[in-house]
Amino acid sequence: MLSRLRKPEMARIIPIGDARMVPSGAAPRAAVAGSVADTRGRRLRDLRISVTDRCNFRCVYCMPKDAFGRDHPFLKHADLLTFEEIARLARIFKDHGVEKLRLTGGEPLLRKNVERLVEMLAGIGGLDLTLTTNGALLAQKARALKAAGLNRVTVSLDALDDRAFRAMNDVDFPVGSVLAAIDAAAEAGLAPIKINMVVKRGMNEREILPMARHFKRSGHILRFIEYMDVGHTNGWRMDEVVPSAEVLRTIGAELPIAPIDPNYPGEVAERWRYADGGGEIGVISSVTRAFCRDCSRARLSTEGRLYTCLFATQGFDLRALLRGGSDDERISGAIAAIWSQRGDRYSEIRSEHTARLPKIEMSYIGG
Ligand code: SAM
Repeated sequence: MLSRLRKPEMARIIPIGDARMVPSGAAPRAAVAGSVADTRGRRLRDLRISVTDRCNFRCVYCMPKDAFGRDHPFLKHADLLTFEEIARLARIFKDHGVEKLRLTGGEPLLRKNVERLVEMLAGIGGLDLTLTTNGALLAQKARALKAAGLNRVTVSLDALDDRAFRAMNDVDFPVGSVLAAIDAAAEAGLAPIKINMVVKRGMNEREILPMARHFKRSGHILRFIEYMDVGHTNGWRMDEVVPSAEVLRTIGAELPIAPIDPNYPGEVAERWRYADGGGEIGVISSVTRAFCRDCSRARLSTEGRLYTCLFATQGFDLRALLRGGSDDERISGAIAAIWSQRGDRYSEIRSEHTARLPKIEMSYIGG
């Protein structure tokens, strides 16, 4: 498929020094449109789109204040993909088998008129549209997002205790406002709502049970995420990871739980239900039980670079193709070529050593 790209375009989409550079003369493996598989047989199904690298929180494990201070060089507006560019790419990705789009960031609700983008993506049709947010602006936007065609939201919430929550978001944001936003989203029909809690040892593991008690019988699905070594500003250490097995033991000791089948093969969260019918929880164990084998996710950064792994160091510059006048067929061919050459399985080979390698920050690549 790369043979379809002219030489200058190849140079733009395949950065020099990228270990995942497509070897010259590689046999084309994918059609220009249609479902595409990578070198491990994994199909492209999900696309996460980062719509801004800015956030109004400074969560200590994601955008710590000392690394993301007032003088941090966030992207300029002209560097961001426009809504039209995002929608054009989304349409092409859909032709390659993508079924689900998640808007993320940074904080996606900070992107001005993001509901307009949702409307444009909904207009493509046949895509499951979701968004991940810290909830700070959700109460005021929930209805407009639903009206624009958003199907569901995931809200990040790391503690129920107000003091613990303010310490984690590090901008003194009150937990009550996030809880109110979750209610507003449910009322607007953005359900079932998933609540994501990152558990970091020494920081919020005491909040596991209060969170479980609070969301039991709420209809929302609370998911516990292992603290990951994304980026390098968070100074990740393996001993700060609270394994999902420990989370499940903690909950199960007070609130009996039983495993349930995945909704679909390759689902990231392992599902559990309360034995008394009080609802469902999930655990996402990207550190202790890597799920690279089934990973079907691609990530589009705020400035239009395509990453095939959350832990990648290099992306492929689709914006250069968009702004360089490439037609849809050419962009489609580039995406197929990139995905078909993909071999990433970072979480399966993670070690203290790999954790120290330079990686893209989560706020840039999109969580
Ligand atoms: N601002 C939005 C939010 O807060 O949900 C979307 C972006 S945020 C980067 C997406 C998710 O990534 C959040 O649930 C956040 O808790 C999670 N996250 C960030 N850094 C992480 C880390 N080091 N390990 C695990 N999850 C992380």
